[in-house]
Amino acid sequence: QIQRALRSLSIPLERLHIMKGHMMQDMCKGLSRQTHAQAKVRMLPTYICSIPNGTENGNFLVVELCQSQIRTVLVTLYGDGNMSPRMVYKIFDLPEGIAQGEGEALFDFIAQCLSQFLTETFSSDTNKSEERLPLGFVFPFSCRQTQLDKAELLTWSKGFSCSGVVGKDVVQLLQSAINKQELCHVDVVAVMNDTVGTMMTCSTEGRPCEVAMVADKGSNCCFMAEAYLVETADETSGRMCVNTEWGCFGDDGTLNDVFTPYDECVDVESSNPGEKRFEKMVGTLYLGEIVRHALIALTAEKAVFTGTDIAVLKEKGVFTMQHVLEIVRNEDGTTDVKRILEDLGLQPSERDCGRVQQVCRAVVGRSATLHATGLAAILSYMCQTRDMETLMVNVGMEGEIYKGYPRFEEILMSVSRLLSPECMATLLPSRDGSGRGAAMVTAVALRLAAQRREVNEVLGPLRLSRADLEKVQALMRQEMEQGLGKDTNATASVRMLPTYVTHTPDGTERGDFLALDLGGTNFRVLVVHVTEEGINMASEIYVIPADIMQGTGEALFDHIIDCIVDFQMKQNLVKDMLPLGFTFSFPCKQVGLDKALLLTWTKGFSASGCVGQDVVQLLREAARRKQHLGMQVVALVNDTVGTMMACGYDDPKCEIGLIVGTGTNACYMEEMKNVGTVQGDEGRMCINMEWGAFGDNGCLDHLFTSFDKVVDETTINPGKQRFEKLISGMYLGEIVRQILMVMTEKQLLFQGKLSPKLQTRNIFQTKFLSTIELNGLPLRQIRAILNELEIDASFEDSVLLREVCQTVSLRAAQLCAAGLAAVVEKMRENQGLDQLSVTVGVDGTLYKLHPCFSDNLRKTLKDLAPNCNVSFLLSEDGSGKGAALVAAVASRAAN
Ligand code: ADP
Ligand code: MG
Repeated sequence: QIQRALRSLSIPLERLHIMKGHMMQDMCKGLSRQTHAQAKVRMLPTYICSIPNGTENGNFLVVELCQSQIRTVLVTLYGDGNMSPRMVYKIFDLPEGIAQGEGEALFDFIAQCLSQFLTETFSSDTNKSEERLPLGFVFPFSCRQTQLDKAELLTWSKGFSCSGVVGKDVVQLLQSAINKQELCHVDVVAVMNDTVGTMMTCSTEGRPCEVAMVADKGSNCCFMAEAYLVETADETSGRMCVNTEWGCFGDDGTLNDVFTPYDECVDVESSNPGEKRFEKMVGTLYLGEIVRHALIALTAEKAVFTGTDIAVLKEKGVFTMQHVLEIVRNEDGTTDVKRILEDLGLQPSERDCGRVQQVCRAVVGRSATLHATGLAAILSYMCQTRDMETLMVNVGMEGEIYKGYPRFEEILMSVSRLLSPECMATLLPSRDGSGRGAAMVTAVALRLAAQRREVNEVLGPLRLSRADLEKVQALMRQEMEQGLGKDTNATASVRMLPTYVTHTPDGTERGDFLALDLGGTNFRVLVVHVTEEGINMASEIYVIPADIMQGTGEALFDHIIDCIVDFQMKQNLVKDMLPLGFTFSFPCKQVGLDKALLLTWTKGFSASGCVGQDVVQLLREAARRKQHLGMQVVALVNDTVGTMMACGYDDPKCEIGLIVGTGTNACYMEEMKNVGTVQGDEGRMCINMEWGAFGDNGCLDHLFTSFDKVVDETTINPGKQRFEKLISGMYLGEIVRQILMVMTEKQLLFQGKLSPKLQTRNIFQTKFLSTIELNGLPLRQIRAILNELEIDASFEDSVLLREVCQTVSLRAAQLCAAGLAAVVEKMRENQGLDQLSVTVGVDGTLYKLHPCFSDNLRKTLKDLAPNCNVSFLLSEDGSGKGAALVAAVASRAAN
């Protein structure tokens, strides 16, 4: 019978594995917005997002509401790693009955204790009492917290039941009580429960503690979770401490099969039957009771205390945790056990003493095992969500059973290690309870608030208001009109170049076309087959040697013809005479679809005798020299136009082209009657806006921050392409780098240490923004990027870096949207519509690969141009397919 009882109290390892799995599932449930309300493991957000870094300093007041006491503490931190804070304590006993009386009386009493404590502590130094005193409030009850200093009480527990507090913000209640005591310089900055306080107590510089367990009357655990997983709080960056409130684990029945009849009895006799099942198996409030019921049952089975009176055991609470601990601590012999049992009024035999000891050991041993299982669940969860192969973590420990049961630590370590072999926990005993931790939370909150003010000062100029964006939209509209006007075109910063493309595809285009793509990353020749079934193409990349790029124009165009001939041979296209579209990504003044004067070379080209010449003519002359008759150049195409045309083939509503890659530009279909720079009023024409130069006349000067100015000054074309320099891939990384340098100087980042590598121009690539801003990216990967730049980033650095990137990319997307808003609104007005439906064909790696750019663009556009219904279509190979389609549409129109 004894063996059976002991067996029922010991849980096999496989069962613990399953339990750990359930705990992890419940944790996820508690964090998810949808399932949070039903979750048994509540996973309450605490709004504590940082652990101390050791620089905190100053005086902090803590008040802690305990089971039967109020503890007041004054903590002085010296910014020395928090190794040796000065602490002054005073403890007040709670008056009889106050825990069940009116809430107001309780809070008034707490404030009176504070007042008395302050008078005594500061009596010698009256000046000090004038200084603002931040206060941390340790309130060990289940609360719904919505800010660090806002927590609504959900339910009382532990014998408390004061009226008028449930559903109220306990910080406000405390602050009003404090104000009544005329302690207005005392400011409640943070509220937390004791578990969180313990975690913070155990955190010091160089030894961050990210988990804490309190194994006491109740049982609870908290840990630093990835903030984006805490869906019940809005914070998405970094980490947040989550208070698991795991005491209710099993209330949905998952622990039923390990619940013993003794546990059932304890539960039935408790004030909240059916609730807090896990806590009732592990908390010290209950362990004595479990032993008592086990002994009653074993006596009935005549396994102990045969023939003696055990009436004393019938009384609830006679067998306390203190008894249990004394009995299990007795390693050699049973003399003390006998004395304890006799003091209780029992008459144990020698054998009874041994058996009682076995039962006690089984009960506390089980508590330790279950704590280990819960801990293992948390460690594995942290390891998984941080995307790590192994996790090393410090666990702050506090509580009666942890301190009083010598084998607790050993069981906790060995069982959690068996259940989560990938995790390595180091236990840190909390020496000063939760008071010091509460002071640290308060100190960290103040440090972060000060830092936040400075960060906002740096980033403020990059954050655009709705009014700012409306102004950009209006300016863009104004510049567009100027660019279109015959007399104003010359001075407009947006050049609004006519492209002589007058139609978008209608889907009836057919035939085979050649396309050239010069001026992108590669020089390519393509053949595009436009058939009833769709478009397919083949292409070849050719190299243009540097000596040809920088040689004569004749040599360059001869080389291009050679490549075309080679391509036609390879593709078996020698017999045909194919129309050719030429994507030529250099600034040109176009005077016809097949006539464009080169304004200037860029991107490393400098072939002589080309600037000012018609590029199409140069190509035709080369074909003549080479006696190549297999092609006919019909159109010269800007890549923006190619993008619009390529998308227009799939979506007839596509009448805008947008590029956000190395640079940025846009084109759209304008009414001919509005195009003052080309003769004729009939029909429409695609206008290549060249919007990258928007602002070059100074109209955007009010937007440029000091960072933008530095970036502009260090480019090869200072003062030019000012709009582009706020938006496109070539510049965003560099803007971020400038901000990082300033923030480091201001000691806001990297502990003020600037790595030489970070001082290198363009070292911070725009693709880093894409990685860093990925939602849910483990911060470890941000640190990996920074390590490449030889920066040792803390966790908080990574969070701030992400914010910087987000600010820069958001501004880029919003400005792009403001530009587009001007375009779509103009198109809507042109057509006299209340509501315009239009599609934008888009190309560019920044748009395609950045995780938030396209969403931010879409949202801002919707906001700025509510009467336009704009869709976006990604272009595939706009410069190849688009050029061919321009040729195709031109032939269709000609026929
Ligand atoms: P181009 O505009 O020259 O035709 P792309 O559209 O490919 O070329 O754009 C290249 C630009 O995209 C580069 O300047 C680079 O800064 C940026 N870029 C490259 N990879 C990424 C990425 N993963 N996320 C955001 N931007 C990127
Ligand atoms: Mg491109």
